[in-house]
Order: sequence, then structure tokens, then C-alpha cells
Amino acid sequence: MPDFHKSDLLIGGRDQKAQSGEYFDVLSPATEQVMGQSARAGNADVELAVAAARQGYHEWSALAPKEREATLLRAADLMATTGEQRYLDLLMDESGSVINKARHEIYYTVDLLRTAAGEVRRLYGDTFPNDNPARMSMVFREPLGVVGIVSPYNAPLALLAKMTAFPLAAGNSVVIKPSEETPLIAVAFGKLLVEAGVPANAVSVVTGFGQECGAPLVSHSGVDAIALTGSTATGQVIGAQAMQQMKRVQLELGGKSALVVLKDFDPQQAAEIAVQGMFNHAGQICMANSRIVVEAPVFDAFCNAMKQACENLKIGDQRDTECVYGPLINRRAVEKVEAHLSDALQRGATVLTGGKVKQGLVFEPTVLLEPPRDSSAWRDESFGPMTSVVKVADFDEAIALANDSEYGLSAGVLTRDIQLGFKAARAIRSGAVHIGMHAFQSNAMAPVGGLGLSGMGRSGGHYSTDEFTELKWISVELGQ
Ligand code: NAD
Repeated sequence: MPDFHKSDLLIGGRDQKAQSGEYFDVLSPATEQVMGQSARAGNADVELAVAAARQGYHEWSALAPKEREATLLRAADLMATTGEQRYLDLLMDESGSVINKARHEIYYTVDLLRTAAGEVRRLYGDTFPNDNPARMSMVFREPLGVVGIVSPYNAPLALLAKMTAFPLAAGNSVVIKPSEETPLIAVAFGKLLVEAGVPANAVSVVTGFGQECGAPLVSHSGVDAIALTGSTATGQVIGAQAMQQMKRVQLELGGKSALVVLKDFDPQQAAEIAVQGMFNHAGQICMANSRIVVEAPVFDAFCNAMKQACENLKIGDQRDTECVYGPLINRRAVEKVEAHLSDALQRGATVLTGGKVKQGLVFEPTVLLEPPRDSSAWRDESFGPMTSVVKVADFDEAIALANDSEYGLSAGVLTRDIQLGFKAARAIRSGAVHIGMHAFQSNAMAPVGGLGLSGMGRSGGHYSTDEFTELKWISVELGQ
């Protein structure tokens, strides 16, 4: 049984009970039992957190860049030296991660914090020629103020770190509203930032539900910008709200990423890549390649290899280093996969492998063949361990099917022909295309984000600090 945790809000660097005094239960995906309780924040708590953040913004943005850089580097060092001890069990118990994924999150967070620290001194401005020789023009890059961070459950440490570190690097303060599924990790991460020296008022964590706690944060007049990583449905609500108030908003939303397997690529190797790109964290990855498009000459060999590879996957035992994934986050997540699966089966698709729960919330690695192109399995995000494989006659049909989606987050193209690879990369409508790799790639410097229903804006490296700063033109009259 996981250890029991009871967590309060983190406001102005201090543990604070919710104004209502209420808590909500946190369930462990492995046992579906209560493993902790987190304070249930609402309007009044958001008020306190935003008031602290307004103060914190002045304190943090007034620090010299070298001080902000050093603070973020201290946070990275704390994460590198104590992250496993603080977060490894929590990531497994609260979010259902397997041990390898939990470790990856911790060390990717170190990388993100270091990368963000590196951006502090690169908030470059600009100058440009002026037709009037007596005048000079300059462009400054300034922080926005208070950034509201609304984060998801699937990578509750690394994504939260990414969403938080870059706005901080740019000189903003933050109020974090983590997923109600994973509040404990978020509060623990906020504490690490304060321990590293981020002014206590510049980072608050309010835990609670979307409507009760997220919505008042998004609409608060003291919040200058919003970053959401979450579902498209939530992005549509938050985006509309932010636009009402003309707030800057960055939305990293769902995906239905394609992996294109061309006929010159070894089908066995393609299957291994497809499995890695799809089943990490049970497919609860925005960039999972949940649509696989295969050219006819290698289709049968690819399917055979895929079936074999899926059946060889070790799943379920989170503390086994060879285990690829554990439970889905909750029962609703399992039911969603089942609903997509049964709809596709009723309408003519077949199952190559998998198709049912193994135990608890652990769902078998599942591959569907030829789902109808208007089925939910093909069109919507299942956010579980299920992918679809379809056969295409040639390159043009492959690209057309890869683009047969309202999402546009990432894609992979498997070919040994670099010209074809580039041709595909330019033709596929998505925020990223990876040649010779699957669609699930991360790099702290890269501009991650999507087109269409996958959202707007980009995160990573200076692309993030660009999002969370405003340009200001200042000119000066020198006189005659
Ligand atoms: P979700 O949309 O259900 O919740 C995300 C966050 O929004 C949570 O903190 C939730 O409480 C909050 N929220 C919900 N309604 C709200 C409202 N009305 N106002 C304010 N806040 C509200 O998403 P999830 O299920 O936690 O995460 C999974 C989703 O995230 C998937 O769709 C996945 O593709 C996406 N995701 C995208 C990326 C990316 O980089 N594009 C990365 C990871 C996850």
C-alpha cells in the first residue's frame, strides 16, 4: 500500500488549509484506493494566491538576471540530488507511472530547469533603423506579470516543471492549478522551488477541481496570462475565457499523431519504433502515435511484428524496470478506451492484439486494424494503450491519411529515403515531424505545440520565454 499523504495549499511559501477547510481524496491508480487528501481550493483561496503572486511578481522580476538564473540552477541541483527520494514513489503511487517513466520525469525536470535558467540571460531585445536621424528605437522584452498554470495528470512533474520554469525564467510569478488527479506532486514541486530560493510569493499552488479552482484562476483580473496543458475540451473553455479578457494564453492540447511507415523501411524495426512511440505510460501521452499508416508492401510484415512486439511487452508491475506501463489514471480512462474500441469493432474494425483489461486499471496493449475513418478510435484521442493501423497504396495516400485529423501535434515518418522523409515532413500538417523516429519526442529546447485542435503557442527553450514576455517599443528623441 502507498504511504498516506495529506497536503495543504502552498500560498506565499506556507502550507495553508483551504478557506473552506475541505479536502478531497486522491486515489492511487494501482489500487483505486485513497492514498491521500489534498486541500480543496475555491474562489477565496485563488484570491489569496493571486494577491501573493502580484507581490511575488515585483520581488522576482526585480532580481538581477544572474540571481534568477542561479535560483533556477539551484532548483535543478535540488532536483538532481534529491528528486528520486522526494518524487519517485509519489509519481508511481499518485500518477501510476512505472519506475522508468518516473525517473525519466525527474531527470527531464532537471534538464528543463537548467534550460530555463539558461534563457534568463537571453531575453534579448532589439534595435532598428529610424528614418529620422535624431531618433532611436529599441525593443525590450518584458515579463507579463502573473501567469496561471493549469496542468494535466499524465506527466505531473515534468510538464508542470516545463510550464512553470520558463515563465519564471522570463521574470513572471506563477499560480499553479494542477490536475485534481495529481495534486500532491505539484505541491511538493512548488516547495522545491521555494527551497531553491524563488521568492515565496512568486510561486503558489492551489489544488482543486477545474470548475471550482481552475475557472476562478483563469478569469481572475490579477492574472495576466494562462498556460494550459490539457484536453482540447478544456482548452476551448479556457481559451474562450482568456480571450474575453484579452489575456495571453498558451494551449497545449490533445493529439492524434500519425506514424507513417513507408515501404523502404524494415517492418520489424518499424514495429519496434511504433510500440515505443505508442505504449509509453499506457498511451497517456499527447504525442502517442495512435494512428499508424503503412504502405501496402510492408503491411503484413509490419502487423505480424507489431502483434509479436505487443504480446512481448511487460506491463502492470510498476516497480519492475523492464515494465513499460502500469494502470491508467482512473476508471473513466479505461471506459473511454473501451467505448472507442467497441464502436470501431461494431463498425467493421478488427483487433490485431489486446482489447481488454488485464487487471485493475491496466489495459492490454491494443492494436486495431482498419477502423472506419469517422470512428472515435480514428478521430478522437483515446488517451490509453490503443492504436490503429491502416493500409495505404502509396506515398500520396499515406500523407492524405496522416493529415486526416483535426489535431496536429506531432508525427513520425519511417523511411530510409531522406528526400521522401523531408517531402513527408513538409506535407504533414502538424507542430512537429520526426523522420526515422516515432512521434513522441521531447527536447527542452524544442518548440512543442500544435495546430488545429492541438492548441496554440509553443513551449520549450526561448519559444516559451517568447510566449511569456511582451515586446515594448521605446524610442528616444535626441534633439537636433
Ligand atoms: P483536462 O483537460 O481534463 O485537465 C487539465 C487541467 O485543466 C486540470 O488541471 C483540470 O482541473 C483543469 N480544468 C478542467 N476544466 C477547467 C476549467 N473549466 N477551467 C480551468 N481549469 C480547468 O486534461 P487531463 O485529462 O488532465 O490531461 C490529459 C490531456 O492533456 C490529454 O488530452 C492530453 O493530450 C493533453 N496533454 C497535452 C500535452 C501537449 O503538450 N500538447 C501534453 C500532455 C497532455
